[in-house]
Amino acid sequence: MSVMSGLMAPTAPVLFKAACPDCRSRFELSPSALRLAIGASRRTTFYSFTCPACGSAVRKPAGERIVELLTGGGVRTLRLHTTPRTTA
Ligand SMILES: [Zn+2]
Repeated sequence: MSVMSGLMAPTAPVLFKAACPDCRSRFELSPSALRLAIGASRRTTFYSFTCPACGSAVRKPAGERIVELLTGGGVRTLRLHTTPRTTA
């Protein structure tokens, strides 16, 4: 379906800046450390990662821009609901 978007991989590794709400440390995460979940609505669309400093699981809402950034950077995407767009 969306295989084409993953073919143009940049040579430089992409790092995403993130912050932990628990210990308030800031860090940069590689795409493999992040996970993106796309739900049926914006409220159920979020990205999550494990804080490398304190180890807590962080979950934050992801807007359209963040979704574009993460998917473009090669973050693993999980679709929680199938959209009715798919035509058979
Ligand atoms: Zn932390």
